[in-house]
Amino acid sequence: MTQYVLSLDQGTTSSRAMLFDREGRIAGIAQHEFAQHFPKTGWVEHDPMDILTTQLNTAVEVLARARIRPRDVVALGITNQRETALVWDRDTGTPVYNAIVWQDRRTAEFCAQLQKDGNEEQIRKKTGLLIDPYFSGTKVAWILDNVNGARARAEQGKLAFGTVDSWLIWNLTSGKRHITDRTNASRTLMYNIVKDKWDADLLKLLNVPESMMPEVVWSSEKVSRVSTSLGLGDIEIAGIAGDQQAALFGQLCVNAGDAKNTYGTGCFLLQNIGGKFALSKENLITTMACSTERKPQYALEGSVFIGGAVVQWLRDKMRFFEKAPDIEKIAEGVRDSGNLILVPAFTGLGAPHWDPYASGMLIGLQRDTEIGHIARAALESIAFQVTDVLMAMQSDTGTKSPMLRADGGAAANDMLMQFQADVLGIPVERPAILETTAQGAAYLAGLATGYWSDVKEIAKTRPASQVFSPQKDRERAKQQYIRWQDAVARSKGWNKSVA
Ligand code: ADP
Repeated sequence: MTQYVLSLDQGTTSSRAMLFDREGRIAGIAQHEFAQHFPKTGWVEHDPMDILTTQLNTAVEVLARARIRPRDVVALGITNQRETALVWDRDTGTPVYNAIVWQDRRTAEFCAQLQKDGNEEQIRKKTGLLIDPYFSGTKVAWILDNVNGARARAEQGKLAFGTVDSWLIWNLTSGKRHITDRTNASRTLMYNIVKDKWDADLLKLLNVPESMMPEVVWSSEKVSRVSTSLGLGDIEIAGIAGDQQAALFGQLCVNAGDAKNTYGTGCFLLQNIGGKFALSKENLITTMACSTERKPQYALEGSVFIGGAVVQWLRDKMRFFEKAPDIEKIAEGVRDSGNLILVPAFTGLGAPHWDPYASGMLIGLQRDTEIGHIARAALESIAFQVTDVLMAMQSDTGTKSPMLRADGGAAANDMLMQFQADVLGIPVERPAILETTAQGAAYLAGLATGYWSDVKEIAKTRPASQVFSPQKDRERAKQQYIRWQDAVARSKGWNKSVA
């Protein structure tokens, strides 16, 4: 009898459920989008019940569509949008406020105050993070300070905090388990990733009672059986990871030095650095990676704000083409980018530059510049930004990555993959299944339950990847990268005079 692993991928704009077979192939998929709420400028919220119901519906739907019974599902893995914070009542299960989404900037002032008070170094040394509204901690503090009666109830031990994984599992187990895994905990500003526990000093600094915190488990561990009566039977929950760490695992980056980049709206580059905590000197963050051996594992992480979004910009604002994949045809109409450089700093620059005042810029325009050149420059800009982050990582670790693994929507673009290999001078490997996030959660759950015996077995059976090796354009790509660095320097600080 064929058996499967079910993976729940709770993302920022949609919830998805996927079934994976023993070869790591997708045997079924269901997806439901849900509403985004923007109550004020810079605020982003989700209704916790939308998160829950869309996710549960997709889980039931994927089984029904594939005609697979819960008893044929050996394990359940969960991966989720990271940093998004929820607080609910332990007795009733009712959320006290909407989920505050990772993108939300409402705690910018609080963060600025924490910085001014000189907390940066302590936080960095303990959590590997920077002080920023992006992470969960200040969002929890905001809920306690702004929801009527919340702080008093929290202090009486009546409220629970969790990231999206905690919220889902609490509901899937009828309130029996209040847990999170290390990859999610490491994004809260409250988890000490060196000592591997919630940090009393940081909780005090943010004024969040420790009683609200979930128990922290391993990413690959049997934690509980589902006990809702929703058509999911009593499937074993055995895998949990934040989306980027799940993708890192899905790409089988389990050894120090292994790196993957996700080419989505933005880009997320993560490199496994093994079992020893280290801080970046290059403005990257340190985070916890998945471990199947119950030993803390760490990764360096750098994010680029505008990745595939530059393609959306050409599509929606410049109206160069109708569908994102059409960019390839237009870019193929010219031989190269004609020395044009596009710096897509539409919202400033992220890692490793961290310049909120950098401006978007197109430089090198000529009489014969056409849209094909701009399309090429846009694709190249994605690869250049990823190169900037990988160079920073290499300088931190003192080792050169032997190859880069790629995933995410824009990784479907062959021209981008080839150019990435050319500019980095190392092979870029694209797996047959680009859904590495959901796949990673499935691997974690399947390993904990013995569906797969080890990572080696997974590597052996999964479909072959496509490798893009550096080609003859390598020299040109290197030259262009030097010009890119020059262009980035010119784009920095530009918006200071506008602000
Ligand atoms: P996210 O998970 O961030 O929503 P996805 O991984 O789904 O993103 O990737 C979508 C992004 O990839 C979009 O920004 C889109 O413009 C870009 N994209 C999709 N297909 C292509 C393609 N063939 N070439 C270049 N970019 C693409």
